[in-house]
Amino acid sequence: MRAFWINLVSSLIGTAMSIDPLRLALSFGLSFLIGGLGYWRHSLTRSGWFGAIIIGTTTAGLGGWHWGALIVVFFATSSLLSHWRRATKQQRIGATAAKGEQRDLFQALANGGVAAVCAVLYAIQPWPGLFAAALGAVAAATADTWATEVGTLSPQAPRLVTTGRPIPAGTSGGISALGLAATCAGAVLIGLVGWVGVRLGDYGAAVWVIPTALGGGVAGSLADSLLGATVQRVNWCAHCELQTEQPVHRCGTATVYQRGWRWLDNDWVNFISSTAGAGVSAIIWAIFGAP
Ligand SMILES: [Zn+2]
Repeated sequence: MRAFWINLVSSLIGTAMSIDPLRLALSFGLSFLIGGLGYWRHSLTRSGWFGAIIIGTTTAGLGGWHWGALIVVFFATSSLLSHWRRATKQQRIGATAAKGEQRDLFQALANGGVAAVCAVLYAIQPWPGLFAAALGAVAAATADTWATEVGTLSPQAPRLVTTGRPIPAGTSGGISALGLAATCAGAVLIGLVGWVGVRLGDYGAAVWVIPTALGGGVAGSLADSLLGATVQRVNWCAHCELQTEQPVHRCGTATVYQRGWRWLDNDWVNFISSTAGAGVSAIIWAIFGAP
């Protein structure tokens, strides 16, 4: 009886959306394993593992393997970079992220949710512009994470993106030459992964892929800095005399609201930035990549 229902549901979905059930099952299995590795390595919380399964299964299962590859590269490089020279970075800014280095469900959705939605839409209507949008969303998340993780090590003080005033490392809205270089490198890497995927999968011309990822990644990262400099919620740690996005600072002190829209935390900023990246990449694709 149970098998009957599983068969019915899967055949209904399969017919309606022409989903490859084997790819969907394999995507689920791989997401479960890769997310489990992230959980074991303390890169993900338990809920973050669940988020990785949702996003991995959706992008690879409904979009295609090259969609899933973007997410895997984002997740792997972000996790590795957050461990890289961690002691120096913690010393400089107290902490690297609002919830520590372990990503939870909301962080996973903030970074990968836009690409997952594009994959769902792609299963309903396989319009190639949706891949460009997903590419931009993941490029933005990757570029921004790389900028934060690498830019923190900048020898010069970062400058506020809106005024150019030098600010302490780790302050929201800061940009540096090193951070900008990391932004471009992260976006180009996602572009390269997308390019290889389009070539291997024989999905047509691929010249547009890397410039599209670069444009979306830089736009998304810039949106993140602009929001960070203006309306993002920022708290204050009185003990360290530092701005932070954390409710409780790494030093253990409860922080107090300092400025910004109270609801606009780091997760919302990441979500908006990846949406901006998706939009810019879809526009670049429409101009240069559309057949
Ligand atoms: Zn503190």
